[in-house]
Amino acid sequence: MIEIDGVHKSFGALRVLRGVSLKVAPGEVAVVLGPSGSGKSTLLRTINHLEKVDAGTVAVDGELVGYRRSGDVLHELPEREILRQRTKIGFVFQNFNLFPHLTVRENVAEAPLSAQRRPKAEVAETVNRLLLRVGLSDKADAYPGTLSGGQRQRVAIARALALDPKVVLFDEPTSALDPELVGEVLDVMRDLAKSGTTMVVVTHEIGFAREAADTVVFLDEGLVVEQGPPDQVIDHPQHERTRAFISRVL
Ligand code: ADP
Ligand code: MG
Repeated sequence: MIEIDGVHKSFGALRVLRGVSLKVAPGEVAVVLGPSGSGKSTLLRTINHLEKVDAGTVAVDGELVGYRRSGDVLHELPEREILRQRTKIGFVFQNFNLFPHLTVRENVAEAPLSAQRRPKAEVAETVNRLLLRVGLSDKADAYPGTLSGGQRQRVAIARALALDPKVVLFDEPTSALDPELVGEVLDVMRDLAKSGTTMVVVTHEIGFAREAADTVVFLDEGLVVEQGPPDQVIDHPQHERTRAFISRVL
């Protein structure tokens, strides 16, 4: 479902991704671990072309992201094609990024109404179903400012699901939350993982990685140092840098 192949990305002289390759099969959950500054957010952002790669390719659902190939040459797609591709990729950010002037219901309905122009009644049904799924049916008419961080992040997850994406990317979804609110968000993510959603999750929640990940990727200085099932990478890491990192976050 996701195929990242030899991706390089620099900001000026700073080489942030130095040849990252990663495959995520349909229904799989990949958890990306790594120290601050190792390139985790940049990697997620390349998946939906929020960040253009310098070399390498990203494909989602069998389609190159951001480019079309003709012979050996890649041509960047027009903006509207990139926007269409992004509708296949849900993104959940650390800081929720909800529209403060819209209600919960309006936040979740926004993309299907404006990007997909789906009929209102059908969207209303989708919104109800998604709010039920994240446990917030009673907050449909509330504004984000009146919600707890955990509730806001659950709205953000419902919003990310509203376009029925092929994959959902999470960038440290619980890092901005008070500790007592982390569990309710992880519960929703576990439920998604179980239901067969293809997910890439950047997180320091080792417990979540252990339970929910099919594959764990340890990224350091823009390189995949180690990748494998959680019992291998988390419990029996092969590399010293992975061991040092895991022992710091456990
Ligand atoms: P992580 O998410 O693992 O903490 P990031 O991918 O956010 O790491 O960042 C990796 C490095 O790239 C950091 O040194 C960061 O400061 C730098 N960086 C990220 N985005 C930009 C940008 N738009 N311009 C310049 N430097 C950036
Ligand atoms: Mg980051």
